[in-house]
Amino acid sequence: MPGLSPVSDPALERPEPPAGAKSAGQAPTRRIYLDYAASTPCDPAVADLMRRIAVHEFANPSSSHTAGQRAAQYVETAREQVAAAINALPEEIVFTSGATESNNLAILGVAAAAEKRGDSRRRIVTLGIEHPSVLGPCRHLSKRGYHLAIAPVHSDGTVDLAALEATIGDDTLLLSIQTANNEIGTIQPLAAAARLAHDHGALVHSDATQALGKIPFDVEILGLDFASFSAHKCYGPKGVGGLWVCGGPTRAPIVPLLFGGGHEHSLRPGTSNTPAITGFGEAVRLASERLPEDARRIATLRNDFETLIQDRIKHTTLNGALDNRLPGFSSLTFKDIDADALVARLPDLHISAASACHSGTPEPSPVLRAIGRSKEQAHASLRIAVGRSTTRAELHYASRRIAEAVCRLQELGA
Ligand code: PMP
Repeated sequence: MPGLSPVSDPALERPEPPAGAKSAGQAPTRRIYLDYAASTPCDPAVADLMRRIAVHEFANPSSSHTAGQRAAQYVETAREQVAAAINALPEEIVFTSGATESNNLAILGVAAAAEKRGDSRRRIVTLGIEHPSVLGPCRHLSKRGYHLAIAPVHSDGTVDLAALEATIGDDTLLLSIQTANNEIGTIQPLAAAARLAHDHGALVHSDATQALGKIPFDVEILGLDFASFSAHKCYGPKGVGGLWVCGGPTRAPIVPLLFGGGHEHSLRPGTSNTPAITGFGEAVRLASERLPEDARRIATLRNDFETLIQDRIKHTTLNGALDNRLPGFSSLTFKDIDADALVARLPDLHISAASACHSGTPEPSPVLRAIGRSKEQAHASLRIAVGRSTTRAELHYASRRIAEAVCRLQELGA
C-alpha cells in the first residue's frame, strides 16, 4: 500500500502553497508530520470517492427526483457506516459540521430541551481537561443560571471517580466527559462514569472526537446518551462530523439549536454535504477495518520514540495514563526549556507545543495544569502524535533533532 501521507510521500503531488502562506518557498526539504492529533490527512481513497460524489452526485439529497435520491443513498450509506463503527443504529446518527458543532448541540440542545419540558435540573458536570468546544457551551450555561461543576482528574488525567460521584447529584442534568484527551491521550473510565450519572437520572455525553477509529468505541457497552465525532481526526475530510443520539433525535431529550428544513431528523437543518458525509462514512469504515493493526503498530512506534527521547534527553517526563492512552499520543515535558522556542528551532518537524486549539494563547495548557504540572513545566511540554504514515526512520530523525534542540536550549538557559 502506498504511503498515505502527502507530507511524507514524495510521490504524491503536493499543491503549491496559497499566496502569502507563511514561509512559503523557504521550507526545508525534509518535513515530518507528527501532529496527527490536530488533524490527519484525508485517505486518498476517501478523497477520490469525495471527488467523484462532488462531480457526479451533486443533486440535493432532499430532492425527490432520482438524482436526489441517489445522493440521499450515499448519505444513508455513510450513516450506516458510522453507526456500524460504534454499534449504533443508523437513525441515531446526526451529521454536523464537526465535533465543535456536535458538542455545542449536545450540551446546549439538552439544556434547551430540559427547560422546554420544565425539568428543574440545573447542574452540568464536566472535566477541566475537556476541549474548548465542551467547556465553552458549559460556561455559557453557567452564565444563564446553571451550576457548572468541574470534576477533578488524577495526575494521569483519568477522572477521580469518587470525586465525580460526590459532584453528581439529583439536580444534575448532564455529565459531559471526553472519551480520550486531545493532548495527553488519556482514556477515561467512561462506562463507570456513565453509571454514576445514570444512578442520579442524569444524561451522559462524551466527546469521542479523538477516540473514533483509534480505539474500540461501542455505545452499548459504554452506556452513553450522546457522543460527538469528527471526520478529520480519522483520515476523513474537515468540516464534517456527527452526533450519536441514543434512541434517535425524535425520541431523545434534545432539541435543535438551528431552525430550517427538516434535515437530520429535524435536529440539524441545512442541505446535507454529500461529498463530505460520504467521505466521513468511508473514512470511518476504513479506520474500523484497520483499527487493530493500526493501533498495534502506532503504539509500538510511539513507545519506541519515547524510549529514544528518554535515552537522549535526561529528566524527560511523560504525561498521561501511560498504559491507557490513545495509541499515537505522546506528551513530553522537558526540563528548563520553552516549548515554543523548541518548536521554532525545528521547522522540519510538524509538532505542537500544545493542542492546536490551545496554541496561540500565552496561557499554559489547562490540561497539563489540571494533571498537576507547574506553569513552567506546562510551557516546557511538547505534544507528538504518530499516525498511519509515520515510519520508524522518521521517528529516529525526529528524536535526534528534538534532543539536539532541547540540549541547545538548556545550554542557552532558554
Ligand atoms: N473535541 C476534541 C477532543 C478535539 O480534539 C477537537 C479537535 N481539535 C474537537 C473536539 C473539535 O473538532 P472539530 O475540529 O471537528 O470541530
